[in-house]
Amino acid sequence: MKVKKMEAGLYCIHCKEEVDHEITYINSDIKSIRCLQCNRTKELKVDLKKEFYREIYERIATKPTRMTKEYREDLSHLLFSLPVRAIKKPYRILKDVNSSRKVIKTYKSKKSIK
Ligand SMILES: [Zn+2]
Repeated sequence: MKVKKMEAGLYCIHCKEEVDHEITYINSDIKSIRCLQCNRTKELKVDLKKEFYREIYERIATKPTRMTKEYREDLSHLLFSLPVRAIKKPYRILKDVNSSRKVIKTYKSKKSIK
């Protein structure tokens, strides 16, 4: 899961003109759009859990069906039951899982501050 930020000139309904906005993406979905002039932020609903599982699923989709099924059923179980020779790829996925979890955590803690 990746968080990306970019700027774009958009029409702000509060400033009533086209001004620079900061757009935050999670993967390819827009998370929020912030007007850099009046600072108003429009949050878009991004289902982080859905994004997260979709990402995992897409990655594992090339594996045999049995494995995919196991993966969906119990991620941690699969990671620890994999034969050693197959561990390289799952390890990489696990690292991504960790970073995705960090993203989720960041957004969760931001919400609780509000
Ligand atoms: Zn504005």
